[in-house]
Parts: sequence; C-alpha cells; structure tokens
Amino acid sequence: MRANTENAEGTGDTVAYGNGLTDEVDPRGDGRAARRDAAVRAAVEQGLLDTDTPLVALLDVTGIRESAAELRAAFEAVTPPGTPVLHAFAVKASPLVPVLRLLRAEGIGAEVASPGELALARAAGVEPERTVLDSPAKTPAELREALALGIAVNADNPQELARLDALMAGSGSRSPVGIRVNPQVGGGSIEALSTATATSKFGVALRDEGAREWVVRAYLDRPWLTRLHAHTGSQGIALTMMARGVAETYGLAEEINRRAGRHQVDTVDIGGGLPVNFASEASTPTYGRYARLLSETVPGLFDGRYGLVTEFGRSLLAKHGTVVARVEYAKSAGGRPVAVTHAGVQVATRTVYAPASWPLRIAAYDAKGRPKEGPAVVQDVAGPACFAGDLLARAQSLPLLEQGDYAAALDTGAYYFAHHYAYNSLPRPGIHGFTPDATGGIAFATVRTPQTIEEIVTESGAAHTDALLP
Ligand SMILES: *Cc1c(COP(=O)(O)O)cnc(C)c1O
Repeated sequence: MRANTENAEGTGDTVAYGNGLTDEVDPRGDGRAARRDAAVRAAVEQGLLDTDTPLVALLDVTGIRESAAELRAAFEAVTPPGTPVLHAFAVKASPLVPVLRLLRAEGIGAEVASPGELALARAAGVEPERTVLDSPAKTPAELREALALGIAVNADNPQELARLDALMAGSGSRSPVGIRVNPQVGGGSIEALSTATATSKFGVALRDEGAREWVVRAYLDRPWLTRLHAHTGSQGIALTMMARGVAETYGLAEEINRRAGRHQVDTVDIGGGLPVNFASEASTPTYGRYARLLSETVPGLFDGRYGLVTEFGRSLLAKHGTVVARVEYAKSAGGRPVAVTHAGVQVATRTVYAPASWPLRIAAYDAKGRPKEGPAVVQDVAGPACFAGDLLARAQSLPLLEQGDYAAALDTGAYYFAHHYAYNSLPRPGIHGFTPDATGGIAFATVRTPQTIEEIVTESGAAHTDALLP
C-alpha cells in the first residue's frame, strides 16, 4: 500500500491513532493512484497533452462516484431508516456543470452561493428541492428568485431576515427557510478559512450579547422558519471543533422547539468543511469517521427527529483532480534545479500565494507519461507566470524533472483548476473526465474546453477597443 495509513487531518498536525486505526485506512488509495497513472499516460498517448497543449486538468470519474457513495453510506449508517438527509455539494468547490450533473446522478444536490452558482446547478438539472442557497450578500432579486423556485434559503443576518419577511408575505413560497448561526467555537490553522471565530463575517454570532435570544424570538415570531444552519468546518479545522459547532447548533434547535412548544425546526443544516489530506494518497479523515463522531457527540440529532442537510465541497472532489503540465525548460539556479512548467498561479492560486497553508504533492512523469523513475532530487517546480513566487512546489524531493517531462499537481480537484486566476492572460486549461474502459484503456470525456486566445481578447474588452480615446 502506498502510504495509506498516514493520517493528516488537514489541520497542519499529523494525528496518531491507536487501535482505532481501521476506519482511517483508505482502501481506495492504491486504486486511485493507479487510475491516475493510467490517465496521465493515456492523455499523452491520445494527444490531450503535447507541445502545443502543455497543460490539462483531469478528473477521476470513478473516484468522484466512490466519494459520493461513501458520503451517503456514512450518514445512512448513523440515521434511522427514512430520515431525510440531503447532501448538497458546495458548488464553489467545483463549479463545473458536468460535475454537478454526475453528482446529481449519485444522489447529491447543490449548495449555491451566488446567481452564477445557482445557474450552474440549474443547468445541471439539480432540482429546487435539492438546492440550498447560502451566501452572505444576497440581493433582493436573488432572494425573490430562490423563493419563486422553492429553493431552501438560509438567512445570514437580521437585515436579510427583514427582507425575507417582506418577500415571504403572501408569496406562497415552498422554500424551507432557516437562519445561519455562527456558534463561535473557534478557528483552525488557516485564518482565511475559519468560519466560526468570534468575529467571522458569517451568520448570526450566537455568543454575542442578546444574539441567542434574538434568534429564538425570530423563530417564535415566524412559523415559516423551519431550518437552522451552521458551517463551522473547513480545511485546517479539527473534527472535534466541527462536532462542537454542530452540537451548539443542535442545542439551539432544541431550545427553539422547546420554547415554541412544537417541532418547529425540523431540519438542521450542518454545513460542510471536512478537511482533506493533501500530504499522502489516503483520503482521510473519512466521512464514516466524521458521521460516527457526530452521532456520538450529538446523539439527539441522529435519533430520527431531525432531517439533515450537509454541504461538503472539498472532500468530495479534491482527491479526484490532477493538473498535468509539461516541463518547458529545466534549469538550475543557486544550485537548485528548477523545472519551469505551465501550471502555476493561474491554476493553483492558493498554493502560490499561501504555500505554507496549501502545499501540493507533485508527481513526476516522463515524456511518454510514465511515472518517472530515479533518485529523489530536491527541486522547485515553477509555473509560467512572471513573478518570482509563481511556484507550484518549493524544494520538493522527486525524480529530477527534465525538459519534455510532465509534472502533475495532485489532489487539485477542488478549488484549483476550476478556479482560474487570469494572471498574465494565461488561458483556462481544458478539463477532461476519465474512466477505465472495457478493454483496459482510458476513455476521456470533455468537461470544459480550453479557453482560446480569441476568447481572452474578447473578454478583455476587444469590443471597446477605442473606448478610452478622446
Ligand atoms: C464553502 C462552503 C461549504 C463547503 O466547504 P468545504 O470546505 O469545501 O467542504 C459549505 N457550506 C458553506 C456555507 C460554505 O461557504
């Protein structure tokens, strides 16, 4: 097995487990790595990658389906039969229509946070009753559209609730509506992704003076408020802290229902945020472990009285995406080898600007797309952008990359190549899904065509060329 028993929680710390290791061994890691190797080879052989197309992104369809099935199974295992559970994929993690369509076929809905994301979910055919709208800055038009479609809405703050009061009156909307709360349980190792700090911008800060009472009263005054939402996890947050956030939210739902004298809050939306292990092949922590931890920490939420909504993003897609870039030049500077590739800040923005928080594993392939052999050499893997910090990896040990080889940035299926950054007018690469075919080969399907230079010129104001002349 390839480093399958390593446990990195995405919190910056390596976690040591005792005898309870079994549920953290990822039996699918080897299969995933083998499929990826076959896909890189096939991408070279089938001409998806060559001197003129030096950058592509690949998505492992088999892996995505496996993760979706694991997610469903994990919550089925801890809820009584018949408990309504909606897994709404956080569209921002992979805003690609074919991906949303695939997830829909696997029984996964959509969590959207902008008109664009809602449009993507609708284009993929995700049903309104399987769609949830959360965002900190919804306009009146967005709210009106969501209510007209019957999409679930989580109000972020008192001003938004006031807007909803006006829009709900006499609308006959079927939308389930809730309030997003911030349990303020604390942050994790990545400040920018810590949603549950005391001063986070999201939701109603529950521990602020008078806030809890305001939330309870808001529900007592509005019989149509039937959901409660919190999203406290993200990369860098420990599972125990996430579970505390869910426990706080459940406690509030119970308090509202007690004071209402009825089961007014019937569904708790526990958000997403399961961290991803970027340090090795193992897909840990697993959904199974998180679901078990939740059911042990908050048993009342799993006894069948509450419906559940989840909003996982990164953990469903990250392990299933790979960016593959041709090594244009191999050079040396200050004694360190540097491979200059076509993947940099435009496809790995977070890694380039915050390398300590977002290190990526790089795999080396030769010019034929075969895993590269040879002694590990400490080297930098650079991108094509014109600033010194444009590095995919610094001082990483791997077989020496040479001109014409390929460098693959692993675990980039969420928040990487689908989140293009237009620095240096570098084009968005093509994205291809891959599946093993019946004959032992690899079949590719286009998910997104590469952006053309003409498109870049058009999107950069070509229709207004003379606009600034007198
Ligand atoms: C980003 C986000 C998610 C998904 O977070 P991941 O870390 O990708 O799982 C879920 N819910 C809300 C409200 C979010 O903002």
